[in-house]
Amino acid sequence: MKGKVALITGSTSGIGLGIARAFAKAGFNLVIHGLESNGAEIARTIAIEHQVETFYSSANLLNPSEIEGMVTVALAKFGTIDVLINNAGIQYVSAIENFPLSKWNDIISINLTAAFCTSKSVWEGMKQNKWGRIINISSAHGLVGSEFKSAYVASKHGLIGLTKVLALEGADFGITANAICPGFVQTPLVDKQVADLSKQQNVSETEIIQKHILKKHAVKEFVSIDAIAALCLFLASENASMITGTSMPVDGGWTAS
Ligand code: NAD
Repeated sequence: MKGKVALITGSTSGIGLGIARAFAKAGFNLVIHGLESNGAEIARTIAIEHQVETFYSSANLLNPSEIEGMVTVALAKFGTIDVLINNAGIQYVSAIENFPLSKWNDIISINLTAAFCTSKSVWEGMKQNKWGRIINISSAHGLVGSEFKSAYVASKHGLIGLTKVLALEGADFGITANAICPGFVQTPLVDKQVADLSKQQNVSETEIIQKHILKKHAVKEFVSIDAIAALCLFLASENASMITGTSMPVDGGWTAS
């Protein structure tokens, strides 16, 4: 995979950052993307540590023209985008009757519409190359629901639908599309949920993790970022060329029940 180019959205934090490090270690040149203020520094550090080329974009995924701009600049720099990983995502937790429409719209835009826009922008290049990999980071919540997460669950189910269509449309052009469905992974996104629940219920964060978060997993542990990154690397490899249109749980058995 040395010298191939991967664009990973939301790669300045959490799961995306772990994926970026694993891909750099494997020799990929990278488009590092995300809103964290140290994004440029993250991109520089990864480039130096792994002797690869990186380019940093802070495109706001709420804005389709910024997404298109990011892809245009990345293509101008690298000439190709071989692997697209739609990883960026946000969460908001509220009962349906209080769920603000603005939060619903933001979640659908960032978690779902942005993946449509990035896929559309890289599509022609992948078709011309007769090779491409699109990996969508959905969630166990793309397969099952949980109360109070209406927009997130809807967006992650939608992402699995988009994945299937991309797989069908890409089949004649060497483009595969798959979704990964993680259970709980300890990242800033989950840390915020834990802190909010702990405050609401006036119990310790440890208790929230055991009683509310990990209760969904059959295996009572967080999923590691490295496990998700390793699966992404496999899906990007030649050996995965016949795997397309799938959604793969990495969820400690959550969706088995
Ligand atoms: P995170 O909060 O650590 O990282 C999210 C990234 O998305 C950040 O880099 C952030 O800057 C970027 N982002 C958010 N809004 C953006 C916007 N408007 N424009 C551009 N970038 C934006 O989250 P994470 O836990 O690493 O989550 C990564 C993905 O994995 C998400 O899609 C999430 O839904 C999914 N996921 C996470 C878990 C978990 O337990 N952490 C479980 C299942 C699925």
